[in-house]
Formats: sequence, C-alpha cells, structure tokens
Amino acid sequence: MAVLVDGRKLSSTILEEVASKATELREKSSVVPTLAAVLVGEDGASVSYVRQKEKACERAGLRSVTVRLPESVTEGELLARIDGLNRDRSVHGIIVQLPLPRGMDVERVVSAVAPDKDVDGFHPLNLGLVMRGTPGLMPCTPAAVCVILDSLGIPLAGLRAVIVGRSLIVGRPLSCLLLQRDLTVTVCHTRTRDLADEVSRADVVVAAAGRAGLVRGEWIKPGAVVIDVGTNPTPSGLIGDVEFAAAAERAGYITPVPGGVGPLTVAMLLKNVVSASTSCGMPRCP
Ligand code: NAD
Repeated sequence: MAVLVDGRKLSSTILEEVASKATELREKSSVVPTLAAVLVGEDGASVSYVRQKEKACERAGLRSVTVRLPESVTEGELLARIDGLNRDRSVHGIIVQLPLPRGMDVERVVSAVAPDKDVDGFHPLNLGLVMRGTPGLMPCTPAAVCVILDSLGIPLAGLRAVIVGRSLIVGRPLSCLLLQRDLTVTVCHTRTRDLADEVSRADVVVAAAGRAGLVRGEWIKPGAVVIDVGTNPTPSGLIGDVEFAAAAERAGYITPVPGGVGPLTVAMLLKNVVSASTSCGMPRCP
C-alpha cells in the first residue's frame, strides 16, 4: 500500500517560510509583498480559485488586490488594466485567472504581464528560463510537483518519468524541471499510441490531463511514485486523473486529490510573490 503524500503539510512548511520572509521585509524595508489577481467574468471555479489565493495571502501576511472585470470587457481594456498593474510599484505579482472569455487571445494577455511580476510563470520569458534551467519565476504547478518529489528523499537521477499532458502550464515546463533532476522523461498526450504501456514502465507518473480516472490503477508499476495534478469536479467533489484506490494498492507513494498538488501550487505562487517583491534579478518592468 502506497505512502500518502500530504500536500497540505508540505505547503504549510513553505507558507511558514513565506510568512516569515514577509514579516522580515515589512520590518526591514516597509515592503508588503502584494499579489494582484485579475478576474474576468464570474465563472464559479475561477471565483473560488481567486478567493483561495486571497485567503492564502491574508494568512501569510501578504497583501492581495483583486481586479474584477465584467465578462464583456474588451481585450484592449484588459491589456490596459494589466499595463496599469505592471507600472504600479506597490504591486509585485500579477496573475490573470484563466480561462478567459472566448475570443480573447490568451497568449497575448499572458505575455502582457511584466516578466518580473509574472508570478504564475506563464510568460514566454519565464518559460524560456525554465527550459534553460536558469532560476527565475517558476510555473507554480510544475514547481509543486518538484517539491513533492524532493520531499520523498529518494534518488531521482535515472528514474523513468512519464508525464500525461503536454500543456504549457504543466506538462511541458515540468518535463524541463524533471530533466534538470536527471530523470528520463516521456511526455504523453492525446495522440500517444499506448498510454497504458508508457505508464506501466514509469518509476514516476505525473497525471495532468484533466480526465477523471484516466490513469488506471492496474497500469502502475509496483513501487512507483504517482503524482496526480488533475482536478475534475464531480457531484461528490473533486477527483483526480488517477484511479486512486487501485493505484494506491501498487504505488510506493501517491498524492491525493484534493490535498496533494493543489495546496502546494498555491504555496509556490505565494513564494513567487515574495521573490518578486525582493526583485529576483529579472529584467525590471517599465
Ligand atoms: P490542458 O487541457 O491544457 O491540457 C491537458 C493535456 O492532457 C493536453 O496536453 C492533452 O494532450 C492531454 N490529454 C488529455 N486527454 C488525454 C488522454 N485521454 N490521453 C493522454 N493525454 C491526454 O490542461 P492543464 O491546464 O494542463 O490541466 C490539466 C489538469 O490539471 C486539469 O485537471 C487541471 O484542472 C489540473 N490542474 C491542477 C492544478 C493544481 O494546482 N492542482 C494546476 C493546474 C492544472
């Protein structure tokens, strides 16, 4: 039976460090690390994600401001608001809650956030730094997966990792971070021919497809590390991409949903806000 990895516990350790750094900044330089969240429309999940981030900031002694814009806002107006936040010296981190209304160019909007305030790590410059292995503002979910792996205390070099999902916010940047840890990485996607075969050879499986129960328990190699990034709403609550009970029978370590990657992703976001507020050596915004 697998060891259950407690994402909440790991995240509370990181949040304690964030809170103590925030206190130090406030006392020494009167800087209050500040996150601005831009929320377009009233999508229920987006509203609740932003609320979660506001609460986490409050608990850790960070300031948060939420810019709420109506669904009818034009892309030009949204870009102008982002530009205003880029120029606002009291704001250190900016996130634009996705998804955006249909018709908006997500790429353009994400690229409009100043790279040194891009605490989601989605800007092309920050993604490029991840690919080069240069420290910068790292995308939060891939960073969270690495915190989990590092916490296990097992040698990672040479392990075979399979990531299910090739998105720009999870799968692709994570593949770079795992390569930097010397794992041998395969990235699977909707056109992968035999997902079961790929997963069954993996020492580390990261499921990030957004398909409930896609990764079957019987595919898991005995003793493997299984990290479930997926969050799929069901009438009885959130479930992951991994068939949890059956996978837990075979895995060495497994993350639950909820309570695994999710809380750590929020912790990594706040960590990015604090590093943005101390200037992490990235190019300054205008
Ligand atoms: P996405 O839709 O952008 O990408 C999904 C990827 O999965 C795609 O690359 C696609 O090719 C692949 N995929 C989909 N169905 C597949 C299948 N049947 N076989 C193989 N590959 C398949 O999604 P995303 O934004 O990367 O998010 C993925 C999941 O992770 C979602 O459930 C999302 O809610 C969750 N997520 C969780 C957190 C967190 O903090 N816990 C953060 C980000 C995303």
